[in-house]
Amino acid sequence: MESNTNSTTYRVHATLQRIRDACQRSGRKPEDMQLIAVSKTYGVEEIKEALSAGICHIGENKVQEAKEKLPALQKDKSLSHVQWHYIGHLQTNKVRQAVELFDIIHSVDSLRLAAEIDRRSYTKDKIMPVLIQVNTSREKSKYGIDPDDTLELVKQVSELKNVKIKGLMTIGALTATTANDTVKIRSYFRKLRELREFIAGKNIPNVDMDCLSMGMSNDFEIAIEEGATHLRIGTAIFGKRKRAVKSLLSAASNQMEEKL
Ligand SMILES: *Cc1c(COP(=O)(O)O)cnc(C)c1O
Repeated sequence: MESNTNSTTYRVHATLQRIRDACQRSGRKPEDMQLIAVSKTYGVEEIKEALSAGICHIGENKVQEAKEKLPALQKDKSLSHVQWHYIGHLQTNKVRQAVELFDIIHSVDSLRLAAEIDRRSYTKDKIMPVLIQVNTSREKSKYGIDPDDTLELVKQVSELKNVKIKGLMTIGALTATTANDTVKIRSYFRKLRELREFIAGKNIPNVDMDCLSMGMSNDFEIAIEEGATHLRIGTAIFGKRKRAVKSLLSAASNQMEEKL
């Protein structure tokens, strides 16, 4: 299996090596990095292979899909150490299930959503760790709170008893093909880190700013250099997705997808 460069196992090891290399270059510790294998569109068998190869964090971006795949894995006692991350846009009518399926939600970008997570977590006697998703690039099509409104949202969400803010999340720019794109991507990651420092400095009760969820297959090395703690990596681990995932970057296309 290990010699097959086209296997999930091989790609997990190759990705871990790239993370170690990027950490070394930027004076960061690999232990401080959470590698979240984003398994959307991939099945239970592929997820199992990634877990056997040493993955401990799995990310999904659709509640419906997660509901079909995760319970079988979550029943397995030998996988009780695995953490399940919800990284996609979350509609309030899916919150109840998301709270049941996931250990952390990366995509809180409104008080309304946070309040619903709080309510559902309360009935489950749970305190749900959340990250605030920031639209650092201010692209209209993207989800996330505007950087200028983030502090206010954090203050409001911090009052909720059954959610706990652990940090910030952002989706970088789409593709890094030219040097100029790389500069742009870096600037958004840097903006998230600066925002984290700014908010941490306010010492808001019930708020941690330890986590920076940023970096995907195309840009995680830049994210590491800019302070990421949670890397959300799909393609580099599972291979190219066969089905397009429209909801990733564009709110408009997500709404279209929901109507289909
Ligand atoms: C799909 C997805 C990722 C992973 O993207 P890759 O380019 O496949 O690594 C990361 N974050 C979010 C929010 C996603 O939906």
